[in-house]
Amino acid sequence: MARSRRRLAAAVFLLVLAACTGTAGRPSPGTGTAGTPAGSGSAAPGGLRAVRHVWVIELENQGYAQSFGTPSADPYLARTLPQMGALLQNYYAIGHSSADNYVAEISGQAPDIATQSCQYLLGADGGRRVAGLTGIEYEGLGVITQTATLHVSADFSPWARDPDVLIRWIHSPQAGVLVVMVPMGPERWGPASEEWVIHLNYPVDDPRAQSDAQVEADARQALGIPDLPMKIHKITRWSVEAVIASAFRAGRVFLLGDAAHRHPPTGGLGLTSAIHDAQNLCWKLALVLAGQASPALLDTYQAERRPVDERNAQRSLENAVNHFTIGAALGLSHENTPEQNMAQLRRMWSGRPEDATHRSAVLRAMRAQSMEFNELNVEYGYCYQSAAVVPDGSAAPAPADDIRVYQPSTRPGAPLPHAWIDDEDGNRRPVKDLVAPGRFLLIAGEDGHAWCEAARQLAEEADVPLDVLRIGHLDGDYHDPRCDWQSHRQIASDGAILVRPDRFIAWRYPAAASDPRAVLTAALSQILGRRPFAQPGPAGS
Ligand SMILES: Cc1cc2nc3c(=O)[nH]c(=O)nc-3n(C[C@H](O)[C@H](O)[C@H](O)COP(=O)(O)OP(=O)(O)OC[C@H]3O[C@@H](n4cnc5c(N)ncnc54)[C@H](O)[C@@H]3O)c2cc1C
Repeated sequence: MARSRRRLAAAVFLLVLAACTGTAGRPSPGTGTAGTPAGSGSAAPGGLRAVRHVWVIELENQGYAQSFGTPSADPYLARTLPQMGALLQNYYAIGHSSADNYVAEISGQAPDIATQSCQYLLGADGGRRVAGLTGIEYEGLGVITQTATLHVSADFSPWARDPDVLIRWIHSPQAGVLVVMVPMGPERWGPASEEWVIHLNYPVDDPRAQSDAQVEADARQALGIPDLPMKIHKITRWSVEAVIASAFRAGRVFLLGDAAHRHPPTGGLGLTSAIHDAQNLCWKLALVLAGQASPALLDTYQAERRPVDERNAQRSLENAVNHFTIGAALGLSHENTPEQNMAQLRRMWSGRPEDATHRSAVLRAMRAQSMEFNELNVEYGYCYQSAAVVPDGSAAPAPADDIRVYQPSTRPGAPLPHAWIDDEDGNRRPVKDLVAPGRFLLIAGEDGHAWCEAARQLAEEADVPLDVLRIGHLDGDYHDPRCDWQSHRQIASDGAILVRPDRFIAWRYPAAASDPRAVLTAALSQILGRRPFAQPGPAGS
């Protein structure tokens, strides 16, 4: 898990420049003119057809990216970056917008000093600079603890015996602190892992966190391993924050990922949110730059993502706080002596009647921690509300548990439910794979020919990237022998669902319509912010 997260952290983007007006090779100095405003449809140099999408990925800086070595040595990057047309340079954003907010400039390092103009700047720098340069402020609790992380090689197998445990939270009677241990492989995982990270949480501004010798001493004391051979590769410090940007957009600058929200890692929602931010924004940006959507579509980024990210931040905080609730319920404190802490711990297995209530309270607090590892409805059960979603008047589903139980739905705004379907030859695939990158997909029931015909016409006449298909048990372009899709689709056999390029439901219609072309035109013109939309064809309305 940690390895894939590291891959993604670097691969998603460090700085994503959209619509750069320079060239895709080594940037030429002084290409400092603003690109043609999106949507103008100009084919002139510097206009839309001259636009290149350049992903600038900075690999020199510290952090996870450092673990990769060279990009060619990492199979994921080697495969992915050429597909993205990546331009690998060590870039540093100076990231200021010009007065009219149309240009952001990026400076490379010597000898490749260059500036690059772009129509839109995506600030995905972990919150280091771009937000500050735009004047966007953060709301929330700020820094709540500081963590010192030791990356070590050591043999913990005599203690870490259970191979099913991924992350170990250890309430140490010696130090009265919470220690978190995560195996890091790289060859073996689980108890025999050769490398580990050990996190120690300190109060904000605690000077002990700044001394390597003290951090090592605290780790050894907390784990009771005064003499265990342990090679320390690195000790890093990072702050646990709980903040969210007051706005995700300032003019043509967007904030994504940790630049927009930073919360405790408990629950693993940080990179999850970052990827969903990028997934939400990039198709919109692509359509706007291609002249297929109005720039108004970009306003839906904040409307859709900020409420979700706010909830993710809140959940992450609750997950973190619950760890300390367990410690408090156990009666552990760094102000106690080790003997006092040990006496508190013994109450858990004393078997004495007078400890029964105490034990129940601790076990209840531990059960509450299960939310951190089982929060599917937080991760996937949210429903966007914005102009890029056409509501159908249906009520939001009421899951059996708001955090843990995800209830698939095709209600507009919800993510496309998973279902296995078959092609004509019986090859099985998930329905999500039918949504092509950057394209809408209309999924009709087996009797939804009229929807398909209307959608095909509209796609062609109004230049909408829209694919069309029918799914049914006996008839259709794809088949549903297990009734997997049918049990989720929530439309009749002559209804239809419109899926956005990010695989969220944009619109649905429960059955046949008397004028499907007009209904689809209204829906797509709202979603794309294109009013009026295509001129109705003679057959259509
Ligand atoms: C211990 C720990 C465990 C975690 N576990 C999980 C987990 O299990 N699941 C999960 O989803 N999330 C997890 N997270 C959170 C996750 O790592 C972050 O949310 C995620 O990395 C954010 O991605 P990002 O791309 O927005 O920012 P970052 O990963 O911070 O990337 C920003 C990059 O921008 C670069 N940069 C900064 N300034 C500039 C500049 N001026 N020019 C060019 N480049 C610049 C930086 O060097 C950095 O590489 C964890 C975090 C921690 C600390």
